[in-house]
Amino acid sequence: MTELRTLKVALLGCGNVGAQVARILIDDADALAARTGARLELSGIAVRNLDAERDVELPQELFTADAETLVKDADVVIELMGGIEPARTLILTAMRHGSCVVTGNKALLAQDGPTLYEEADKAGVQLSYEAAVAGAIPILRPIRDSLSGDRITRVLGIVNGTTNFILDQMDSTGAQFADALAEAQRLGYAEADPTADVEGYDAAAKAAILASLSFHTRFALEDVSCEGITAVSAADIAAAKEAGFVIKLLAIAEKLTDEDGKTGVSVRVHPTLLPREHPLAAVRGAFNAVFIEAENAGELMFYGQGAGGTPTASAVLGDLVSAARRIVLGGPGRTETTTGHVPALPIDASITSYYIGLDVADQPGVLARIAQLFAEHGVSIEIMRQTIHRDADSNVESAELRIVTHRARESALAATVKAVKGLDVINSVTSVLRVEGV
Ligand code: NAP
Repeated sequence: MTELRTLKVALLGCGNVGAQVARILIDDADALAARTGARLELSGIAVRNLDAERDVELPQELFTADAETLVKDADVVIELMGGIEPARTLILTAMRHGSCVVTGNKALLAQDGPTLYEEADKAGVQLSYEAAVAGAIPILRPIRDSLSGDRITRVLGIVNGTTNFILDQMDSTGAQFADALAEAQRLGYAEADPTADVEGYDAAAKAAILASLSFHTRFALEDVSCEGITAVSAADIAAAKEAGFVIKLLAIAEKLTDEDGKTGVSVRVHPTLLPREHPLAAVRGAFNAVFIEAENAGELMFYGQGAGGTPTASAVLGDLVSAARRIVLGGPGRTETTTGHVPALPIDASITSYYIGLDVADQPGVLARIAQLFAEHGVSIEIMRQTIHRDADSNVESAELRIVTHRARESALAATVKAVKGLDVINSVTSVLRVEGV
């Protein structure tokens, strides 16, 4: 029997994900060798603190604080440190030394992806990042490879488990945002500083990656319009529920033609009402899912665990095996095509339905005035529901109006809402949320 070639695998980081990657590499060494045609030897693990206790028992001699030396002598480098620096410099160094790189670092890819992709192309090495979007769910490779003969028209993703957990808690218990966030923190689903999750920045980084692969064009974080979930109230959730909707934070990338006839891609993240029967509405707790519409394949949905050390390690190992196979078999390192050249369109160009909650004076003719304003802006109303409230102390009646519009251009919808706010019969606009899937 011929001796298998050995490939050196350097691991940067031994935290939640890194420790599980190291464990699988050691425990499943024989199976991985059989699948790749090479023995994958863990050549070292770079960490900050050499004495820290690890989730997994690993040979102490593997640990080093000298990441730079480690990456210069590896066939594949797995970066699971997170953050921008030194991860960025180490990845560039690795590629310049001819190593393939596997990373789960969406923050780095969103901030400086183009530099990394260009360096990978220049060096002829593979840069893979399946773990960067939706943890364990194999989503990037299906988009890049399996759907490369099709045309993707739209991607809708629940790609942040923390916000999905919070919104799901609010939906199932009636809790306010702050209480649901506190519960998420207590259970370890949200970090002490939840900004990146609840403001939508984490989802925006993933939206940029999904859009880039789906539309064969490199989109940066600046191309993503981003709105988080901090303004979503228990009243919004309750009203949505009553109307048959659920609120989800969606990452959306879709091909559109703007008012001037220019075709481009709208990439955005915002809280979105979805009909309860939509497949994404069933995604509960901290799970993730990505819903894809393609011209020939039709609708596809990918569902699973979007985070967690072991699930995410699965995605990392998949990339590692693929990189190792490529090294063994030879061939180009190119991992994506960027021949789409479609521009990113501003949020104003997007086409969506709106849900609008209004607190209005209970007077004759109010509904007609509001309906007329919508018509003047070219926005047609699909559903208009009125509930009358009487204030027990003042005995004054007011009406709560809930309107769902047909799909219209965001700019027209925004102008309509602005005009409605100016009406003297409007006490307040209680919520404005976008609707998909109707
Ligand atoms: P983590 O638990 O914070 O672990 C980070 C590891 O990197 C630690 O072992 C740390 O060393 C090491 N490290 C950090 N800075 C370093 C430096 N300057 N020099 C040397 N070592 C350094 O992170 P994680 O949760 O495993 O996440 C790793 C990456 O995967 C991130 O990019 C994250 O966005 C991504 N990701 C994570 C998940 C998830 O569920 N956790 C899911 C998808 C993607 P010490 O232990 O010595 O401090």
